[in-house]
Amino acid sequence: MVEGTNCEHPNCTCMAAEDSDYCSTYCEAAEDSLEIACGCGHAGCEGTATRVA
Ligand SMILES: [Zn+2]
Ligand SMILES: [Zn+2]
Repeated sequence: MVEGTNCEHPNCTCMAAEDSDYCSTYCEAAEDSLEIACGCGHAGCEGTATRVA
């Protein structure tokens, strides 16, 4: 397998963990909750929800 697979969460731009299709348990759970934005909390994740001012 090639190193550096992206997280399977549609809106997550993080790299998946070596032993998972997701970068975090958040993304793994979000797959079932129709979450639009990614809330994995990783720095640099472009799917993170924009904060309401
Ligand atoms: Zn993410
Ligand atoms: Zn992710």
